[in-house]
Amino acid sequence: MSSETLFDKILSGEIQSDAVFDDDVAYAFRDINPQAPVHVLVIPKKKLESFSDVRDSDETFVGAFMKRVAIVAEKLGLEKDGYRVVFNTGAHAQQSVQYLHAHIIGGRQLTWPPG
Ligand code: AMP
Repeated sequence: MSSETLFDKILSGEIQSDAVFDDDVAYAFRDINPQAPVHVLVIPKKKLESFSDVRDSDETFVGAFMKRVAIVAEKLGLEKDGYRVVFNTGAHAQQSVQYLHAHIIGGRQLTWPPG
C-alpha cells in the first residue's frame, strides 16, 4: 500500500486546490507554482504512483484518463496555439509527488529542449 501523498490530500479535500475539472475519472487543478500563464495538473481518481505504472494498468482506464487530459487542455483554451503535456517520472525527471500527474503547460511560447 503506497503512502498518502499531497495529491491524495488534494483529492480528498483535506488540502485546498483551485479546481478546473472534476469527474469520475480525473481531477484537474492549477499548479501552485505555475511555470507558464496556464499550468494545470491532471490526476486520475484511481491512484497510480507514476507514469511507469501505466504499463500494468487497464487500457480502458488509461484511455479515459488521457482523454480527460485533452478535454482539460481544450477547456483551458489552449488548442489554438498549442500546449505541452509533461509526466515527470522518477528521480532524473525530478518527480516530487508520487501520484501520477499530467502537467498541462501553455499560454506562452514554450522552448525546447527542456532543462
Ligand atoms: P512534479 O515535480 O512533476 O512531481 O510536480 C509536482 C507539482 O505539484 C509541482 O509543479 C508543484 O508546483 C505542484 N504543487 C505542489 N504543491 C501543490 C499544491 N498544494 N497545489 C497545487 N500544486 C502543487
